[in-house]
Amino acid sequence: MLTFTPTTIKTIAFDADDTLWVNETYFQDVEKEFNALLTKYVSAEELADKLYAVERTNLALYGYGIKGFMLSMIETALQVTQGLISTKDVQQIINLGKVMLRQPIELLPDVRHVLDSLDEDYTLMLITKGDLLDQETKIARSGVGDFFKHVEIISEKKPRDYQQVLDRYGIHPDEFVMIGNSMRSDVLPLLEIGTYAIHIPFKHTWVHEQVQDDGFTHPRFMKLQRIAQVLERFETPIRKS
Ligand SMILES: [Mg+2]
Repeated sequence: MLTFTPTTIKTIAFDADDTLWVNETYFQDVEKEFNALLTKYVSAEELADKLYAVERTNLALYGYGIKGFMLSMIETALQVTQGLISTKDVQQIINLGKVMLRQPIELLPDVRHVLDSLDEDYTLMLITKGDLLDQETKIARSGVGDFFKHVEIISEKKPRDYQQVLDRYGIHPDEFVMIGNSMRSDVLPLLEIGTYAIHIPFKHTWVHEQVQDDGFTHPRFMKLQRIAQVLERFETPIRKS
């Protein structure tokens, strides 16, 4: 597989959810509980399809995040039960979401060490999409927020959204790498605007973020298995002047 030599890179940007800490696992756990509530009305498979269809339709209205997910679960429950879901079960769905919003942050292995090591030689940035309040409190609870010189919470991760971030800080694409778990959100848009990108898959991927990437190559792309491997790739850094 092709890998790039990151000699020109000065800024390393990280995605947050499922790159620095566990996220999708909680969504999947809650979806199982949601399924258990509705098991007498609908099969697990059909419910998953219906929920994703509702979520996708609502993304433009709610954006990414837990609160939008809660509303989409309620809407889906109303649909599949034809309005027969009990108020007690609606309350249960709200409670599931509230638990998610308060979930302790579980950093992935080696994250703190990697950030601490890279922080000496590179400008670190966090770029995450989702609900502003939810992402802000997650960063605060993570205990690693101070490593990042810049934190960008954006609604979408399209090429133009990243271009705006680079423009805001006057960063040249040759000097920038994005690291994240999603090919769709953290890799492909970056390659389109000419920066470097590193994909580190997480064990679970939301269907919305899934992209067939087997054998994908690009001169500015590499795929790693663990975040600790980033350090091996960045052993000859350019010092911050
Ligand atoms: Mg992510």
